[in-house]
Amino acid sequence: MEEICSKCGLPKSLCVCKAIEKEVQKIRVFLEKRRFGKQATIIEGISEGGKEVASRLKQKLACGGTIKEGHIELQGDHRAKIKDVLIKLGYSEEQIEIS
Ligand SMILES: [Zn+2]
Repeated sequence: MEEICSKCGLPKSLCVCKAIEKEVQKIRVFLEKRRFGKQATIIEGISEGGKEVASRLKQKLACGGTIKEGHIELQGDHRAKIKDVLIKLGYSEEQIEIS
């Protein structure tokens, strides 16, 4: 007997749950140290609506920021608060990785 996936109820050979999970966008947040003691919070992995997300983040965190090739940069260290803001914007906690 073939093993049945507990998520979708299909035999494991037909199940695509794992593949779907993999496609869930990961958002990576990390701090970058700049010259003259400045810091920037980098948010990677927001592929759609980056402009909108960036402006919301700037507003909620009251800071400056820019969008650069595929990532968002915010001035200062916002790692402590950014998860809550991203969750409010509709992202799930599991997809957000803060380092
Ligand atoms: Zn499945």
